[in-house]
This record gives sequence, structure tokens and C-alpha cells, in this order.
Amino acid sequence: ILVKTCDPKKVAVVGAGYVGLGTAGLLAHLGYQVTGIDVDLDRVAQLQRGEVPIHEPGLDALLAAQGERLTWTTDYAAVADADVVFICVGTPPSSDGTPDLRYVTAAAASIAAHLDARPLVIVNKSTVPIGTGDFVQRILEDNALTFDLARHTVVSNPEFLREGTALADSLYPDRIVLGGSTEALDCMVKLYAPLIEQSFTPPPATPRPEGFTRPAVVRTTLQSAEMIKYAANAFLALKISFANEVAGLCERVGADIEEVTTGIGLDTRIGLRFLQAGLGWGGSCFGKDTQGLISAGDEHDYDMPILRAAIDVNYRQRRVVIDKLLRHLKTLKGKKVGVLGMAFKPNTDDLRDAPAHDLIQRLVQLGARVTAHDPIAMPRAAREWAHLTYQAADSIEAVFDRADAVIIATEWNEYRALDWAAMTHRMREAVIIDARNIIRTPLAAEIEQVGRAVLKAGPVPS
Ligand code: NAD
Repeated sequence: ILVKTCDPKKVAVVGAGYVGLGTAGLLAHLGYQVTGIDVDLDRVAQLQRGEVPIHEPGLDALLAAQGERLTWTTDYAAVADADVVFICVGTPPSSDGTPDLRYVTAAAASIAAHLDARPLVIVNKSTVPIGTGDFVQRILEDNALTFDLARHTVVSNPEFLREGTALADSLYPDRIVLGGSTEALDCMVKLYAPLIEQSFTPPPATPRPEGFTRPAVVRTTLQSAEMIKYAANAFLALKISFANEVAGLCERVGADIEEVTTGIGLDTRIGLRFLQAGLGWGGSCFGKDTQGLISAGDEHDYDMPILRAAIDVNYRQRRVVIDKLLRHLKTLKGKKVGVLGMAFKPNTDDLRDAPAHDLIQRLVQLGARVTAHDPIAMPRAAREWAHLTYQAADSIEAVFDRADAVIIATEWNEYRALDWAAMTHRMREAVIIDARNIIRTPLAAEIEQVGRAVLKAGPVPS
């Protein structure tokens, strides 16, 4: 039925977070009439006023350029009018590490209540445990007016965007993964045709990368699509932890981790990306998704030791930084420690599972006075990290003034561009922990010349 009648023109996007906002902007840019739905009244009011509630480069301009093609509401009635509905709500970890599906469940039930007679595809973009597509299908069938309305409609279309480069990732993806019934996938291919064929005009701020032709399309089952998302994130997390594990041994044997990862990454079977040693991953996805895959294994009595180790190595890196500082300063009591960067990575204001959070917490526990800075995330930290005791720096210089140590926790370009030698002169007993390895060697040498210590991240030599 769907093949004959599928001619998508109107789209509803449920959830206006990092993924929902990007998806809504992308689909409107491709020419669809898009309604974004969120239950957060403040967020919707903000969007209706033309304000974008998150920091993502280029997103303000992309959303503003859509005009009447993109509207925001709290009312699920918009679903009845849509040809395709995207679920982009959060799936945060619950206390036992398994993904909390309460928002997906609520969204699916609300959608079901508004299904009408037209063919409809319901696309799950949230990262969900394998089997959730079937679960959502059941919720729809249970709550729809008639059983037939909701049959064979759920598609899994996992999202691979990275915060900070979300727009380019959405407009020029390596691949589009689609899982579900043949009819529903045919409809999705039709919907994504301008993206697959790259027939749209690139937005001015996000030009098509040179050499980019078109994304690959992977058509598969619901379960495989859901697994692809988890396995992809787990593999990337694994790569970073691998680099960090090797970094610790490099320090002990006198090898340079940056040269080592370049040397191995130039092998095209390995690749250079996601091999940066340092403070490890953070953010809303890697920790949650690696843990989610382990929990899925547990349910089937299947152990995943590689992933458990990847998680251990990742969080060990946060302790390593403090251990290094302690070895150097002997005690942190009363010491002034600056933290550069609070967001979990540059070009975002996202603070979820940010390493800087754990660093600040531990530093304070050990008696340090902490001054922290972030080019974008400070207002958000004032709200979300109110439980932490730190001084918000009103300038980058304030982080260095009379500090005993400074830790680089996020590799913002603003920090790369600093006059490090001048900055370290502002410090008292200066130790810089370059936990993101952004200070290049000649600079590091220059800093050492002025009598400062630059300590790279990595396990403390025993
Ligand atoms: P988010 O927390 O930024 O946004 C979720 C939004 O959903 C919020 O605005 C919330 O108010 C809204 N919401 C919650 N319940 C709702 C309901 N019943 N109806 C309507 N709206 C509702 O989350 P996010 O970072 O955009 O992530 C969304 C999903 O995408 C998650 O499963 C995540 O794992 C996955 N994902 C995220 C990223 C990323 O980089 N953030 C990348 C790939 C995949």
C-alpha cells in the first residue's frame, strides 16, 4: 500500500534536541514542510521566537532560512497531517546503565493517538536498544484507532551526526542506514532522494566538501539498523580507548603517542581519526551506548569484555590527570587550579558526561580552588553544574592568574591559539596538564624554556 501512495511532502519531527533540531532543519532545507513537536513548553516558545536553544555552528542560520517551511508546536495533532514522523527524543541511561525508554514510549503513544487514515512511516532516529523498533510498532498497534493503520510502519534510521559538525554530518553523510519493511524503506528512499542524489543547494555556511559525491544507502532489518548504531559508536569509543591505553605505555617506554598514532593511523585499514590520546571521550552517546550494548549482552547472558575494558580505560584517564597533578604539586590543598574547557568537546555547549565535570569535582574534594572557563558552555554550566564549587572565569587570563596549575580539558581553538608562554608567566607555580595534547612540541619546548612544566595526559609513570 505504502509504495503506491507514498509521496512524502509533510514531515513531523518529535523532540527538538540536538538530533531533532538538525533533522528538522535538514528536511526543511530539502524542501519538506516540517513541524517540530516538543513537550518542553519553554523550548518550543523559544523556537517560535526564532531562538535556538542549543549551540551548534550554522544551525541558527539554517533554521532561520526555512521561514514558513518549519514551524514548532507542543501539539501532537500535527502528526495527523504528516506523511512521515521522526522520533528524536532522548534515551538517557537509567541508573542500571540500560537506556531509559520512557520518552520513546511516551512519544510513540502520543503519535499513535493521532494516526489517521493516510499512509504513514514512523522513523526512529533516537538511539535505542535492539528490539525497540518492534516495541514501538506494538505501542502504535495497541494505541492506534485501528490495527491496520499502524502495521509495518516503523523504520529505524539511526543518526550519526557529531555535535559541533552536525550540519555537515547530516547534509553529507557517509551512509544512510534504514531498517524496516520493504514498503516503508521505499518510502524513506523517496523522502531522502534529494539527500541521496545530493540535488539540493548547499546552505551558504555548510558547503559540500570537495570530492563528496553521494551517501551510501544501507537497507536492512530493524534489528540490524539498531545494532549498526550501537556497534558504530562502540567501535569509535574503542579506538579512543585503544589510543589511551597505548599512550600509557608510550610514556613508560619513552615513545611519543602522537607519532605512534600517526604511524599506525596512516594504514588505511586503521585510519587516523578517533585515535587521539588524552582525556578520553565524554558526551551523551559513547558512555551510554557502550554501556547499552553491554546491557544488551547481559540480557542474553553474553559477555562483552572488550567494551568493558574500553569503558574502564576511558574513565581511568580522568583519574590519571589528577594523579599527575598530585605527583607534581604533592598536595592540592589550597592550590589554585585552572580548568580550560567545560563542554565535553569543542564547538558545543553540551555538558553531558563531560570529563571537566569529574575533574572539577575531584579537584575540589582534594582541597583545590578551581577556576574554570569555557568559550560557550559557561552559562549552561552555571545552571547544570550548580552542585560544583568552582569560580567561573570572566576571561581566559583569569584561569592563569596566580594559578598553581592549569588543565586543558577541552580542545577549543581559542586555547590552541593562546600565547602560552605569556600565559604561563601569569601563573604562580605553573604546571600545565595538556590533557588534550593540543600544545605542539615547539610550543611545549618554549614553555619549558621559561621554566614551566607541560605534562601530557596518559597514565602516571609508575
Ligand atoms: P536531547 O536531550 O538534546 O533532546 C531530546 C528532546 O526530546 C528534548 O528537547 C525533550 O524535551 C524532547 N522530548 C522528550 N520527551 C518528549 C516527548 N514525549 N514528546 C516530544 N518531545 C519530547 O537529545 P539528543 O541529544 O537530541 O538525542 C536524541 C537521541 O538521538 C538520543 O537517543 C541520542 O542517543 C541520539 N543521538 C544523539 C546524538 C548527539 O550527538 N546528541 C547523535 C546521534 C544520536
